[in-house]
Amino acid sequence: MQERIHNFNAGPAALPLPVLEEIKDSFLNFSGSGMSITEVSHRSKWFDDVINDAIERTQRLLKLNDQYKVLFLQGGASMQFCMIPLNFLSDGRSADYINTGTWSTKAIKEAQIQNKSIKIVASSEDKNFCYIPENIPFTKDAAFVHLTSNNTIKGTQFESLPDTGNVPMIIDMSSDIMSRPLDMSNIGMIYAGAQKNIGPAGACMVIIRQDLLDLVPDHIPSMLSYNTFASKNSMYNTPPCFSIYTIQLVLKWLEDTIGGLEKMDAQNREKANLLYDYIDNSDFYNATAQIGSRSLMNVTFRLPSEDLEKTFVEKAINEGLGGLKGHRSVGGCRASIYNPTGINAINDLVSFMKGFEKQSG
Ligand SMILES: *Cc1c(COP(=O)(O)O)cnc(C)c1O
Repeated sequence: MQERIHNFNAGPAALPLPVLEEIKDSFLNFSGSGMSITEVSHRSKWFDDVINDAIERTQRLLKLNDQYKVLFLQGGASMQFCMIPLNFLSDGRSADYINTGTWSTKAIKEAQIQNKSIKIVASSEDKNFCYIPENIPFTKDAAFVHLTSNNTIKGTQFESLPDTGNVPMIIDMSSDIMSRPLDMSNIGMIYAGAQKNIGPAGACMVIIRQDLLDLVPDHIPSMLSYNTFASKNSMYNTPPCFSIYTIQLVLKWLEDTIGGLEKMDAQNREKANLLYDYIDNSDFYNATAQIGSRSLMNVTFRLPSEDLEKTFVEKAINEGLGGLKGHRSVGGCRASIYNPTGINAINDLVSFMKGFEKQSG
């Protein structure tokens, strides 16, 4: 393949081209250091500037007040599934979990493995996770409510966050962080593996409200304690420097080129609407997520047969449209259309889909 393709991969996923170009241009000599960003010390002024700029841009983009700390951890979002119950459910506290698919299920499993007390207060498993539950009976004195805001595999997303009363939410935002403005008023913590919407694999962004840090027990391993990272500006040990550097550039692109999360949201809605409208008006393609629960980030759909789906994915890649195969656990097709994916990519995808429908329908 000579040219860059339209990349619809779910993660690792497309990055903004200007970010990749900036990395390329400064790769051998970062910021006058005479070294690559992959060679400078994480204790240097060069890297301090990178991580602090990434934190400040996160604070501005999400309009965080000074109660929140922005951290970068390793182990992906999956490590958070383990750390959350370990850090916040000592002393017999209990938490509510909402199960909306594969990743929520994994988060629940990690709490159960540790014998922590949790309650699954809502689940959409009865309909193969094709919708987001409503009218959820939350527990008044729960330590937190855990939910997955966007379900990367099933293609559903909370349109708005539920009202959990006084109980703080802990939200897995791996696949929709920074895709739209966020009301932080009842959020205790959000976390996101970088490789979906904000960078390359390696770092997991964690935004945590200070009062949750008071729940963290002393006797847990240092590398699994939020306090370790919160007290050392994420540099207790060597952080994933290159991933954090790329995140910084992506956030700069979001602020300076896109113009913030309201603008990003408008673009994302336009993109998703274009694709869903076409799918809904066709008898050949079928969206799998229920209206009202559909993800603006991962559009999941089926064709009339698995054979046609296989041919569809193969033909698409020949046309420079990559990553359209659904997750191996669910089959079907999926177009992941994160922030960097432009409207031109959606237009090209829709015209390919029209052509394929004509040939095969
Ligand atoms: C991809 C994904 C994860 C797992 O992320 P890792 O960084 O690979 O551990 C967790 N939650 C959601 C919503 C995801 O999309």
